[in-house]
This record gives sequence, C-alpha cells and structure tokens, in this order.
Amino acid sequence: MTDCIFCQIAAKKLSAKIEYEDQEIIAFDDIAPKAPIHILIIPKKHLESVNHLKAVDSKLVGKLVLAAQKIAKEKKIDRSGYRLVFNTGPDSGQIVPHLHLHLLGGGKL
Ligand code: AMP
Repeated sequence: MTDCIFCQIAAKKLSAKIEYEDQEIIAFDDIAPKAPIHILIIPKKHLESVNHLKAVDSKLVGKLVLAAQKIAKEKKIDRSGYRLVFNTGPDSGQIVPHLHLHLLGGGKL
C-alpha cells in the first residue's frame, strides 16, 4: 500500500533505524520511544491488524515473535525482561494500520 508509512519503511522509501531484516519482516526503532528500547517488528506484506490475520499468516506471526526474541537477546534485555504488544483497533490506541509488534524494554515498564 503506497500511502502506508510502514509499507514505505519496508520498501526503504522512508528512513528508519533498522534493527533486523529478512525476506518477510523488518524491525526498526520507534520514532517516539516509550521505553529505553522500543522497536517495532512488522511484516513487509501489508496486513492491517491482528483482526485481519488468517490461518495462512500463523507462521509469519511466529516469525515476528521470534525476531523480537532475537533482538531482545542482541540488546541484552532477554534476562532483564521486555514487553511485546500488538495494539489492535481504536480502543488499544493503534494509530498505524499496519500490523506491528512493539518490543519494549531496557528499564522498568
Ligand atoms: P500504535 O499506536 O500501536 O499504532 O503504534 C504505532 C507506533 O509507530 C507509535 O509508537 C509511533 O511512535 C510509531 N511510529 C509512527 N511513525 C513512525 C515512523 N515513521 N518511524 C518509526 N516509528 C513510527
């Protein structure tokens, strides 16, 4: 989707500090961090939210979580702990309609 900011980051049309990337997913620093470490992990394919996931996406969602685990280890917060969040829909505060997993850590949350 050309007007989606996270699709633009995935396509490298919008800059971001990339923390991890493979064929299907990309992870980058949140522009307005809510914790010392705040990274967003997204599928490159446009999916609006958890509400839009289908059974065929289950492997992709697993990859998002495993990427979070890998990044947490690299950032050395795997033992101190971290929070993973999928905001979904208006009441959650989801403002970007492209599925993203927040990885928050590096201090008491
Ligand atoms: P959510 O409220 O779950 O939709 O979270 C969206 C997140 O995206 C927020 O934490 C924003 O700070 C972050 N964000 C918005 N635009 C950008 C951007 N261009 N680069 C990095 N993070 C962004």
